[in-house]
Amino acid sequence: MPTSIQVRLAQRAAAGVRCEVPACSLFVDRIGRYCDAHGKRDERNGHPTAAAVSKGELRPLVEQCAQFIAAQRDHAGIRAALDWLAAVLAAGRPVAPWRVHRKTMAGERVSAWMAAHAADGVEPAQILATVIALYLLQEQRPHRFAGSDRFFRHQLAIRVLRLGRGTWVCNGPAGRGTTWRHRVTSGTRETLSVLLVGTLGTLSIQAARSMERRRTEPLPRLPGEHHPFAGRLMP
Ligand SMILES: [Zn+2]
Repeated sequence: MPTSIQVRLAQRAAAGVRCEVPACSLFVDRIGRYCDAHGKRDERNGHPTAAAVSKGELRPLVEQCAQFIAAQRDHAGIRAALDWLAAVLAAGRPVAPWRVHRKTMAGERVSAWMAAHAADGVEPAQILATVIALYLLQEQRPHRFAGSDRFFRHQLAIRVLRLGRGTWVCNGPAGRGTTWRHRVTSGTRETLSVLLVGTLGTLSIQAARSMERRRTEPLPRLPGEHHPFAGRLMP
């Protein structure tokens, strides 16, 4: 017979199970690996301590990737990736905000996001540039993702999901309102990132490495730059 949650919690409290984050000595206060604060961060970011990748941090890399993609339009892999993304966007099924609830399946949420992106005019090339930019960041700063594949994937999903403008919801007089977006649940990020990384990962790594090689390529040396110069030094 499985142990009930109450019994497991009581056992943990008695055993004094502490948060897994080094230097955090708080007790785990629920069924999980972290204390309340680190647990919430893990749920929101995909990692208990690492800082989320902001839009501003990624922007220069996205611009670089967008140029790369534009220059590589005839590359078979880039073309296939753009076609695949166009199909994913077209297959999205909208879900009305009031029909999304806590138990809405992750696949359905991802589909709703893709429909919203399509409606917002998010282009396949924008999504691909964002995905490759995350891989480029990984190439340039290998420690940025704290060695966590899950954190990398979740940040990738968040940056892709935030490409849309969201829906302006009027909730009062004088045009006041808020931008409404589907909630980015951990399950949504997991499902979307597995899909994107699974399909675009290999191509994105190749593209990021190619861009990095070009950036770090040594400048050509001048022939004869080490030859001794003519004439004698003054005595
Ligand atoms: Zn903690």
